[in-house]
Amino acid sequence: MRIDKLLANMGYGTRKEVKQLLKSGHVRINNQVEKSPKTHVDPEKEDVSVNGEVVEYREFIYLMLNKPGDVVSATEDANDLTVIDILQPEDALFEPFPVGRLDKDTEGLLLITNDGQLAHRLTSPKKDVGKTYFAEIEGKVTEEDVEAFREGVTLDDGYVTKPSDLEIIETGHYSEILLTITEGKFHQVKRMFEAVGKRVTYLKRVSMGDLLLDEHLELGEYRELRDEEIEYLK
Ligand code: URA
Repeated sequence: MRIDKLLANMGYGTRKEVKQLLKSGHVRINNQVEKSPKTHVDPEKEDVSVNGEVVEYREFIYLMLNKPGDVVSATEDANDLTVIDILQPEDALFEPFPVGRLDKDTEGLLLITNDGQLAHRLTSPKKDVGKTYFAEIEGKVTEEDVEAFREGVTLDDGYVTKPSDLEIIETGHYSEILLTITEGKFHQVKRMFEAVGKRVTYLKRVSMGDLLLDEHLELGEYRELRDEEIEYLK
């Protein structure tokens, strides 16, 4: 990787600022002053320092966001604020993207990373990663719905869902449930309830595989995943 890109990625300034830093002799590779921004460096094998301070290089970033219901799960959008827009600039430098999508009005656990392989594994239909949602439902959720979801329900486009696990927390005129699905069809949870004549009025993702939404995160807050949490996803 070019030294100017590495330093910019690690938050040492814009490419232009980093060039200046190099030119003025503040950067060393293996203790030798390096002035050219074009020089390639292998951060795993070579020591890079700025003003005598070692640059801790890392390639990947893994963030857990408690997504609020007013931002879209995309990297760019012409009309709405995205989940990337609400990151701190030093995190956005890693060029991360959301893993899968939540609807704009859905809250809760969203993983944001620049690790394409991990993202691919988590969203691949072949990998049955369970995603659990908490939902408020207009209508009385019944044991028949639990059974229907276990069997698979037919969505409006004729698709039959894979078996899913519906747990009733409270039922009545309005109900509260937890639903675990292993797929990620467009508006899947909302459409599954439509298939049994009910309407989702609030939706929040609470887990993905073994990764649980950190309850300490307020809506719109995020934190880096811990090493063991990254391992859960691999
Ligand atoms: N199912 C939905 O209907 N919406 C989401 O955002 C996620 C799952």
